[in-house]
Amino acid sequence: MLEETRPTLLAWLTLHGVSAEQMRSLVDRSGTIRGPRRDVSPDTRSKLGPDEVWECCATALRLAVPAAEQIAKEALSRVMVNVNPDRNRYPRAFTLHDAGNGAPYVSCPWDGRIVDAVTLSHEFGHAAQILASADREVPPILREAFAHLTEHLFARQLNIDGHPQAGDIADYARQNALAMAVHYGPRLRRALSESSAQYEYGWNYPPALALSDALGKEPDPERLWTLINGSAEMPELIAATGL
Ligand SMILES: [Zn+2]
Repeated sequence: MLEETRPTLLAWLTLHGVSAEQMRSLVDRSGTIRGPRRDVSPDTRSKLGPDEVWECCATALRLAVPAAEQIAKEALSRVMVNVNPDRNRYPRAFTLHDAGNGAPYVSCPWDGRIVDAVTLSHEFGHAAQILASADREVPPILREAFAHLTEHLFARQLNIDGHPQAGDIADYARQNALAMAVHYGPRLRRALSESSAQYEYGWNYPPALALSDALGKEPDPERLWTLINGSAEMPELIAATGL
């Protein structure tokens, strides 16, 4: 795992094929992503249960990216989702590549709040990308970009379905994304000016959020498919989205 090997700043930039200058510009863009129309408390009760969230994400993926139809089916049939993990050992959501049966495993504590619904949609994105990218190594910014984009596709699908909480979920996802960009942006900016900076996973979020925001404005099914299946390169996504 990248977290454990702690790459240098240069190795991290090289892995993504992006210069420090481009990364700075992505950090700047992440601070200007669309915020919520109004703030929504993360503790707002979710009207959707975890199964409904997962199914809605599969529908959202299938409709936004027709090439991912099979992946959407596999996400429903093969991915193990544990919404009741041991809270002391696994307080935060995560997705493993392989639970030992050749399919991803999602751990996502569920307390029936809107934050849990958005978090589960994020993990759906990670699981779907793992299924679609097979043996390709997807760099962390592109992993987080697709997971954040899935939050957006989930909220968009709820809106299409006329779900009463579509607006709240879209707003909470945006509010959370902006908060992450605001939190990690200055840390990454600081790291970009000191080449000896110690890697932290949070560096991936500001550029990922800038990318997912740009890609989500007018989702292009073919481009999204390259992001999901791990064949997209970051420089081409930056150029294609005009970032
Ligand atoms: Zn993630």
